[in-house]
Amino acid sequence: MSKGNINISTENIFPIIKKFLYSDHEIFLRELVSNATDATLKLKHLIRIGEAKGEFQDPLIEIKINKKKKTLHIIDRGIGMTSDEIKKYINEIAFSGAEEFVEKYKDKIEDSGIIGHFGLGFYSSFMVADKVEILTKSYKKEAQAVKWECDGSPAYTIENIDKDEVGTEIILHISEEEKQFLEADKINELLSKYNRFMPIPIKHGTREETKTIGEGDDAKEEKYTIDNIINNPTPAWTKKPTDLKEEDYKNFYRELYPMQFEEPLFNIHLNVDYPFNLTGILYFPRITKNMDIQKDRIQLYQNQVFVTDNVEGIVPDFLQMLRGVIDSPDIPLNVSRSYLQADGAVKKIAGYITKKVADKLNSIFKKDRKEFEAKWDDIKLIIEYGMLSEEKFFDKAQKFALYPVVDGANYTFDELKDKIKDTQTDKDGNLIVLYTSDKEQQHAYIETAQAKGYKVVLLDSPIVPHLLQKLETENEKLKFTRVDSDFIDNLIKKEETKISKLTDDEKTKLEGIVKEVVPAEKYTVQMEALDSTDNPFIITQPEFMRRYKEMSQTGGGGFMGMGEMPEMYNLIVNSNHPLMDKILKAKKNKEKYVNQALDLAKLSQNLIKGKDMTDFIKRSFELMK
Ligand code: ADP
Repeated sequence: MSKGNINISTENIFPIIKKFLYSDHEIFLRELVSNATDATLKLKHLIRIGEAKGEFQDPLIEIKINKKKKTLHIIDRGIGMTSDEIKKYINEIAFSGAEEFVEKYKDKIEDSGIIGHFGLGFYSSFMVADKVEILTKSYKKEAQAVKWECDGSPAYTIENIDKDEVGTEIILHISEEEKQFLEADKINELLSKYNRFMPIPIKHGTREETKTIGEGDDAKEEKYTIDNIINNPTPAWTKKPTDLKEEDYKNFYRELYPMQFEEPLFNIHLNVDYPFNLTGILYFPRITKNMDIQKDRIQLYQNQVFVTDNVEGIVPDFLQMLRGVIDSPDIPLNVSRSYLQADGAVKKIAGYITKKVADKLNSIFKKDRKEFEAKWDDIKLIIEYGMLSEEKFFDKAQKFALYPVVDGANYTFDELKDKIKDTQTDKDGNLIVLYTSDKEQQHAYIETAQAKGYKVVLLDSPIVPHLLQKLETENEKLKFTRVDSDFIDNLIKKEETKISKLTDDEKTKLEGIVKEVVPAEKYTVQMEALDSTDNPFIITQPEFMRRYKEMSQTGGGGFMGMGEMPEMYNLIVNSNHPLMDKILKAKKNKEKYVNQALDLAKLSQNLIKGKDMTDFIKRSFELMK
C-alpha cells in the first residue's frame, strides 16, 4: 500500500465541496454515471480502432445499494485506470479541476443560473460520502488492479487488489446526513431525472416479468427475473429523421412527458453539425388558456445527460412554450445566464432554432394547407408572438401566417391584400383591412360590412394590437380598422356625397336636442347623412384610441406611460333615418326617443348594465303603451 497527500493549495477543499450548492447535492450521481459512460465509450472506441483487444460486449453501468454497509456502488465496464492514471487523473487533474471550480464559485452559490450544472466531476461525491473508494482495472494488457481510498482529508491510499473484470467500481460510503441516497426510490428518481437517455444501459436492481410457455391447455405462466434497465440509450433525437416515422415521434413525446395526455400538433427534428453541434426534437403543443407553461418544458441535454429544463437564453422566448429536447455539447454550461445570453455560439443556436421552426411550419403549410389551417387556432399565439419579437421570423412567417375571414376562408397576408384591393381601397388609396376581435359582440357591425361586400378578418389573440401596429409599419398605405370603430362609410371612405334629407337648420336643431340628452363627458356626437335603412344611432370607438389602450394593457411599445385613458365613444346620429323626423316634430317624449335610441345603440355594443338596463326596460314598456 502506498500513501500520499493530495496537493492542496486551497485551504482544505473538502469542507467546501461538502457545502457546495446545498440544494444540488444530488448531482454527484449524474457526475459519476457520466464518468462511467465516458469510460465505456472510450473503450468502445479503442476496440474499434484496434487499440484495445477483445470485443465490445454488453456495455452496462450498474448502480447498487448496500444498506447494511451504507454504501452506494457505481460499476462500469469501461477502460479502467492504472495506479499511475489514478494518481494523474484523480489526484492531480480531477482534483485541481474541482479545486478551481470551487474557488471560482464558492461565493456565488446562490446564482440561479446554469452554474453548477457541470464542472465538479468526481469530487462531487464528497458532497454525500465520508469515504470514497475506487476499485479499478485498466484495459491495458496485464494491468494490475488497484484500489484508491480517500476519507475526505487530503490523505489517500493506493493498494493492489484482485479484480477480474476490466472497469471501475466507485464505492461511496454515504454520510449520515445524506442517507436518503441509500433509498432505492431516491436513486430511481435521480436516475430517471438525469440519466433517462444516456447512451449506455444503466442497471438498477432487477424486476420480474412473466411469460407464457406452451400452447393451448398446456400453457403456463412463468416468472423470470431480468435486469432493471432504467434508461433508453437510443432516444429518438439521436436517430436520423429518415429512420423515424410519425408514430415514433409521438411515442417519444409520451416517453418524455408520461403525464401529458394530449398529442403534440407538429414536431421539428433539429440536426446540425456546423458551425455548432446540436440535435433535438421540438414539439408544438396545443396552446390553451389554462395551460401551465412551467410544466413539461423543453429539456436541455449535453451528450444525452440531462442538464436543465430552463432553456431561457438558449431558446428564443417565443419558442419556450414548445416542448421537447435540445442536445448540444457546444452550450457552455458552467457559466451564468447573463453570460450565456451574450455568448456568440448561443446566439447562433437561438437563430438556428428560430429558422428551423419557421422552415418546418412553411413546409407543412405548403404540403398540407388544410391540416395547417385546422391547427392554426392552436398555434397562432406562438407564431404571432414570434412575428413580433424576431424580425427574421416575421419575414418567414409572412408566407404562412393566416388571416381567417369571418365567412370561413383563411388567407395569407398577400392573398388577403389581393382579395380586398378592389373593394376596400379608400379614396386616398389606402387599403383598409377590417377586422373583428369578437364575432358575437361585434355581430351587427360585421353584418353591415359584409352587406357592403367587405371582408372582415377575425383577429382575437391578446397581442393582436401590437401585431397590427407592426404590419402597418411594414406596409405603406395599409390600415387596420376594427369593424365597430366608425360607421361603415367612414371606415372605408369613398368618393360619394351623401344627400341629406334634413335642411341645415333642422340638422342643427336635431344636434341640439341630442346633445342635451347625451352626456358630453362620454359621447362625442357626430351627425351623418347615412342610408335611411341604417340604424338611427350607432356607437363606435375610434381605432387609435382603443388600440393604444389595449396595447398599454398588454404592455410594451412605449405606451405604458400614456396613463389611464377615459372611456370615450362616438355617437353617430343618422340624420336620414325616419326617427329623426319624429324627434324633431314630437311635442313631448323627445328626450325619451333619444334615450331609447341611445340605449339600443349601447345594447348592440354590450354597453348597457345596472341602472341603465333597468331604466331601459321600463322605458321600452312605456313606449309600447
Ligand atoms: P472530468 O470527467 O470532467 O474529466 P472528473 O473529475 O469527473 O472530471 O474525472 C477525472 C478523470 O478521472 C476523468 O477524466 C477520467 O480520466 C478519470 N475517471 C473518472 N471516473 C472514471 C471511470 N469510471 N473510469 C475511468 N476513468 C475515470
